[in-house]
Amino acid sequence: MKRAREPIPKSRSSFMLVKCPDCSEERIVFSCATKDVGCRGCGRTLAESRGGRAIMLGQVVKRLD
Ligand SMILES: [Zn+2]
Repeated sequence: MKRAREPIPKSRSSFMLVKCPDCSEERIVFSCATKDVGCRGCGRTLAESRGGRAIMLGQVVKRLD
């Protein structure tokens, strides 16, 4: 079985602590989330899934390795 190399720089995947710009609720988001991640407080989208990678739309507070 062929395995395509993933064009992700540095480490493969990690968890990010993302802060909602609207209500300051913090949420842990997986960098390879396959689904959009919404804020628990206000429902705003904090991370959008794009082909197996999540685009962070909120403020990334820190990386949790
Ligand atoms: Zn929010």
